[in-house]
Amino acid sequence: MQEKEKFMKEALKQAQKAYEKEEIPVGAVIVKNHKIIARAYNEKEDKQDSTKHAEILAIQKASKKLKTWRLTDCEMYVTLEPCSMCAGALIQARIKKVYIGTMDQKTGACGSVLNLLEDYEFNHKVEVETGILQKDCEQILKNFFRELRESKRSGIEVVITRLTRNQLGAFKSATWVRIPLAPPIK
Ligand SMILES: [Zn+2]
Repeated sequence: MQEKEKFMKEALKQAQKAYEKEEIPVGAVIVKNHKIIARAYNEKEDKQDSTKHAEILAIQKASKKLKTWRLTDCEMYVTLEPCSMCAGALIQARIKKVYIGTMDQKTGACGSVLNLLEDYEFNHKVEVETGILQKDCEQILKNFFRELRESKRSGIEVVITRLTRNQLGAFKSATWVRIPLAPPIK
């Protein structure tokens, strides 16, 4: 396996984590000197924050680790084409190159809706390579949206079965199950 695929697999593992938390499954890793220095996944729903995209979170973690906002010799692997916010952040962070899994025809800003990284003359140019493990990166998104549609159709409801509280009696965590309210509509 090539290094590119190896690192995209790691980004996919992050996407899987997002999937399990019912977030749109997008994952990213940042690599420096052939080593992963940051991993992140989409946390928009969990944090109810539109800026918590995998790429932004990975940039934050890498900057914290390297103690600099300049990620000059770093490369990002991301399962889905970055949006305009994230493509902008890649330029701001001086990321050397971005490897993209699958494209996003609706909001992609690295060649789909527009190409922020190649069509404009900014002070920094981020290199782009697309189609790394494309099928896998596409499949996880397809599975997610299919499952979402199916659960909506069958009226699945999440029922909390157990609550745990901390010493002060405040809510800490919950165990829950999904219960179909009605048979799925065929
Ligand atoms: Zn984004």
